[in-house]
Amino acid sequence: MKQEFIFIGPPGSGKGTQTKILSKEYNLPHVDTGSLLREEVASASKEGELAKQFIDKGQLVPAELVSKIIKNRLLKEDCKNGFILDGYPRSIEQAELLDKILKEIDENTNTSIKVFYFEIEEKKLIERLVNRRTCSKCGAIYNLKTMEIKDKNRCEKCGGELTRRKDDTEEVAKKRFDTYFQETEPLIDFYKKRGILITINADNDIKSIYEKLKGAIK
Ligand SMILES: [Zn+2]
Repeated sequence: MKQEFIFIGPPGSGKGTQTKILSKEYNLPHVDTGSLLREEVASASKEGELAKQFIDKGQLVPAELVSKIIKNRLLKEDCKNGFILDGYPRSIEQAELLDKILKEIDENTNTSIKVFYFEIEEKKLIERLVNRRTCSKCGAIYNLKTMEIKDKNRCEKCGGELTRRKDDTEEVAKKRFDTYFQETEPLIDFYKKRGILITINADNDIKSIYEKLKGAIK
């Protein structure tokens, strides 16, 4: 049975961490849409070149083009047993395009598809974000709220100075999340109606979230 997972959740929900663990344990590729798009542009493929024209103008890459890039990726050999799709879809339009893609690539395959929604309150997300620190030397990421750090100004790995990103402010974060939730909400209903949505309480530690995930897969 081909296992297909879609991970939906705002930045800072811990979705990325869980994707990595699941990807390793189940030996399924983590298809992160943001990275995929960047790789495609860097590789100067036909679709990448097209996407670059929009990115260079500061425009959004059209949904049809993104879906083409995703389809090409999901058709690759390493996806034959399944995949974890992260960061896509973000809207109903994208979800409908994804339906089309999956129908095309899975025509004669027995598949199981599950959508995990990492649910977390906006104010908790903002709290996490403003407490996030990055090492100026090695790039390690810390969270003053959720991690125990001896010196809040120094990296424990390399001793570099811990800094806060300029855009990790409450105001910027709030704007970003408001847009995110507005976009995503209809998507949650879309998958709920189909009975394939699994809501994960993301306000929990890494281990218990993963247990919940695994329990839902079986
Ligand atoms: Zn460091």
